[in-house]
Amino acid sequence: MSATPRPAPAGAAELQGTVIQAGRPATDMLITCRDGVISAVRPADRGHGAGGPRIFILPGLIDAHDHLAFKRTLWETGPAAGALMGELMHTDAAQMRREFEANARRILASGVTTVRDFGVDLGAGLSYAGGEAAATPRILTCGAPLGIPGGHLHHRARAVTTIEDVNRLLAEDIDAGLPWVKLFASGGIANYPQDPISVELSEKLMRAATDMAHGHGLRVAAHALPEESVLNAVRAGVDSIEHGVFLGDESVRIMADRGVWYVPTLAGYTRRVRALRAAGQHAAADAFERDVITPHRRSVRMAQAAGVRIAVGTDITASVVDEMEALMDEAGLGFDEVLAGATTGAAELLGLADGTGTIAVGARADLLVVHSDPREDIRALEDVVAVICAGQPVPA
Ligand SMILES: [Zn+2]
Repeated sequence: MSATPRPAPAGAAELQGTVIQAGRPATDMLITCRDGVISAVRPADRGHGAGGPRIFILPGLIDAHDHLAFKRTLWETGPAAGALMGELMHTDAAQMRREFEANARRILASGVTTVRDFGVDLGAGLSYAGGEAAATPRILTCGAPLGIPGGHLHHRARAVTTIEDVNRLLAEDIDAGLPWVKLFASGGIANYPQDPISVELSEKLMRAATDMAHGHGLRVAAHALPEESVLNAVRAGVDSIEHGVFLGDESVRIMADRGVWYVPTLAGYTRRVRALRAAGQHAAADAFERDVITPHRRSVRMAQAAGVRIAVGTDITASVVDEMEALMDEAGLGFDEVLAGATTGAAELLGLADGTGTIAVGARADLLVVHSDPREDIRALEDVVAVICAGQPVPA
């Protein structure tokens, strides 16, 4: 068949290939997209497109944790890579928006058709349905995160010390129509090991945020690394734990019981170790591996064993495929589990009730078409034939 979706009569587009979905047998199908949705899925007819190369069709991927404004650091590998992050963190709003949109287009062309972006104070005013002429993925954003005064990334967060602060600030997010709230339950590891990872927002303030957000249809994500912060967040009722580097038995049990999603970020940390090694800093690399990556891998395994739902997120310096591969190679998840985490599972976390993440009649037509079978090698997902977002072919 042709390598790109061909226009079919009356504005429809057709694709034929091996359909791969999480937890289902692969089958050769002919898919028709019309008006932004999948209008027909039927067994492939042998005559149709016979003789062309075999291709593989998957639902468009979902990145459940990104920061598109800073994403250029993913592709930058030269000596400037280290300085770029600092530069981007201090750029002005107009430049940040240009970065955001350029990176969004690049991510979409890689097959990521939906992104939950936590990034950072750009959230308000940015709303992308995906598939429009600007060719962005669908992007679900939040306002600037809520945190403690002087806490994690405080120059880009909104400080709260009382329930009144929380209510006043979330009223802005509700008015802006934002779908997500981000809470800083702990510090980060940007300056590890110089800075210890602090426990930040209290359970009480996070509960106030979660109650108000849920009352208005918003969902809540908590950046939480140590067990104590994760416990504060899950007891407060958040919908997802981001990073969750140092999970313990108690948090894993509560997350499984309450259906709290877990979005690990293994690949970005692994990349940091590689960068340290490349710079000859082997002692620092060993320490980071021992103190951060090893516990993070263990957290993912514990969560999986307990039945916690896991979605794929990349943070800044990883791609969706990087994280899928890391979850498989470093934490022992299976192909179907990571594919679900980047499709059906992530769609559920994001509250997308339009069939996103599946290939079925009536579902939003978000598709990733690749040359070879990703069940044999997950990196096959990077060998893109075509990307369809809301029924629109994405420019390469
Ligand atoms: Zn992040």
